[in-house]
Amino acid sequence: MCKHAQHFGYDKEGVIMNYAMALDYQNCINCKACETACKEENGVQLGVHKQRIWVGIVEGTIFGKPYVNLYPSQCNHCMNAPCVSVCPTNASYYAPGGIVKVDAHKCILCKGCMEACPYDARFIDDTTVAVDKCTFCDHRIEEYGTTACQATCPTKVRLFGDLNDENSDLVKLLKKEKFFFQKERSGTLPKLFYIVPKDEAYFRQSVSHDTKIYTWETFKSHFMAKSANTRSK
Ligand code: SF4
Ligand code: SF4
Ligand code: SF4
Repeated sequence: MCKHAQHFGYDKEGVIMNYAMALDYQNCINCKACETACKEENGVQLGVHKQRIWVGIVEGTIFGKPYVNLYPSQCNHCMNAPCVSVCPTNASYYAPGGIVKVDAHKCILCKGCMEACPYDARFIDDTTVAVDKCTFCDHRIEEYGTTACQATCPTKVRLFGDLNDENSDLVKLLKKEKFFFQKERSGTLPKLFYIVPKDEAYFRQSVSHDTKIYTWETFKSHFMAKSANTRSK
């Protein structure tokens, strides 16, 4: 199997898929329905620190006026994932569709992947005695076309889809909106697309001066070329 096929799965027509998610994060109300749905759908260990999905909270003040920004997050299913390259037993791997997964049977709990992940997206499941993380709900994609967290969110924060399908709702959204990535400098080629908020004040609070803002066209030329280079190495 070529390296390209190892990273990306094929649909029934033989087209390569590359799953990703857009987050209209300004709509998050921190209700935690996504966290509950994820635990229920995936049998994730109970406990507040055992999460495949979470909401980051940033508080601050601008000219004495307080603000709170919410950043719903999970594994970025990075295209250049350090958690995969660092794993000594291949327990962390690229599953079809570019989904980064963990084979619990191969995990020796060395924690290398947990240290390598810039997003802190992994935790130890004490019931399987292995590292666990988001799977993009790959067991339900074929039947439902989406993830439990997207299906449950009352304010429609998430949109899951295939970056390689120009007719997917995901790509249609990314062609309409501008977006950015969290910790892009880490070089992992993440696939959580944070949609630039319409609210100018919220937008300014969300990004730092060096955050790169992308359109679909600039993303395609910059990121896709980088990911092709990564895969051909
Ligand atoms: Fe935020 Fe939606 Fe999760 Fe609620 S379900 S916490 S609104 S992302
Ligand atoms: Fe790996 Fe972390 Fe990237 Fe997920 S977010 S693929 S766990 S490096
Ligand atoms: Fe959990 Fe599935 Fe959402 Fe990942 S995609 S955070 S596994 S519900």
